[in-house]
Amino acid sequence: MKEIILIKNGELALKGLNRRTFEDMLVKNMRRRLDGIGKFKFTVAQSTIVAEPENESVDLDEAVERISKIFGIAGFSRAAAVEKDMETILRSAEEYLAPQLLTVRSFKVEAKRSDKKFPLKSPEICRETGGYLLRKFPHLEVDVHNPDIVVTVEVRDSSAYIHGKQLKGAGGMPTGSAGRAALLISGGIDSPVAGYMMAKRGLELMAVHFASPPYTSERAEQKVHSLLKQVSKYSGRIALFVVPFTETQELIKDNCPEEIFTVIMRRMMMRVAQKIAAKENAGALITGESVGQVASQTMQAIACTDSVCEIPVFRPLIGMDKDEVVAISRKIETFDISILPYEDCCTVFTPKHPRTRPTIDYVEECEKALDVDRLVNEAAENARFVLISGY
Ligand code: ATP
Ligand code: MG
Repeated sequence: MKEIILIKNGELALKGLNRRTFEDMLVKNMRRRLDGIGKFKFTVAQSTIVAEPENESVDLDEAVERISKIFGIAGFSRAAAVEKDMETILRSAEEYLAPQLLTVRSFKVEAKRSDKKFPLKSPEICRETGGYLLRKFPHLEVDVHNPDIVVTVEVRDSSAYIHGKQLKGAGGMPTGSAGRAALLISGGIDSPVAGYMMAKRGLELMAVHFASPPYTSERAEQKVHSLLKQVSKYSGRIALFVVPFTETQELIKDNCPEEIFTVIMRRMMMRVAQKIAAKENAGALITGESVGQVASQTMQAIACTDSVCEIPVFRPLIGMDKDEVVAISRKIETFDISILPYEDCCTVFTPKHPRTRPTIDYVEECEKALDVDRLVNEAAENARFVLISGY
């Protein structure tokens, strides 16, 4: 029996005139993400996308796994695609859905008939299918209000589709539909989650990571690659820029008061990230900051970092508790990578007594000891490019 995947777009359906563009984007994303498993043919009709493998050898389990992480999909199901003939539909439903029907107690049948030439109307398809399945699976009963499983029969122009359980999609908007933004990624728990959350809103991610060798190791950078690989299973491939940050950090350490290190370092990061973002057509920055989490994340410290930013800074974790962030990082499977113990450039120069309420005037005064423009330009120019893809 031929098996296909039926995809229901999420919020997409609400987008009226833009719907076509969004659907095209979603199909493009799916095509790219399923590349490597095999060739699929995609057809779009009535807020459903049909993904049909072009040959038998395609691994549909793997396809389902990948589709479950693609943004812009509310739900999807595996379905049997069969000839449009009632006899065939009944037998196929029995065979195809047996594994699911044997594990439940109640069901109901829903039918959709978009091929109006099909001799039976939807209520008749429901009645026939329901009666047939009751005879074949006597342990079942029909429950129209709260069934364990909904059996759906869709009679379309090309074939009839039969499916049972709907799988939950990743939700959100298709990657790229909201533009492009640069994620500042450390090796920590928060920034990968922040990237995931903004990608879910339709942003295509690029990433910037600051490395300070020899204070930070090659393994610390590999950890960032692993984190982004995992995020890219949701967001699609990510262009990463690794910025050499040692000189900047040493100059801050030697020339600025210790209590203000972190704020100045963060401002330098923002400046460099903006430069790279501008070159790469990214319109916003993303960070994993959350108010009150550490000294550099007070309202006053954030005001100091924001004041060097000319593009919006998205901080999707701003009002979240650590355990809420951890829950998401476990879900997207970045947590176990994040807790690996390699040093980040932030931790290397962490002051013992950071100032929690820095003022912009004071920070600007302290920064006069640095050649900010030169450092920012050089760091941005010397960034090393790595293309990350989880598949
Ligand atoms: P994370 O868990 O993401 O490391 P955090 O709670 O440890 O966040 P900080 O270390 O203060 O917080 O960093 C705040 C944010 O600054 C990070 O979420 C990240 O967006 C950015 N950042 C920190 N270190 C780096 C780095 N080495 N490279 C790029 N961005 C960084
Ligand atoms: Mg950190």
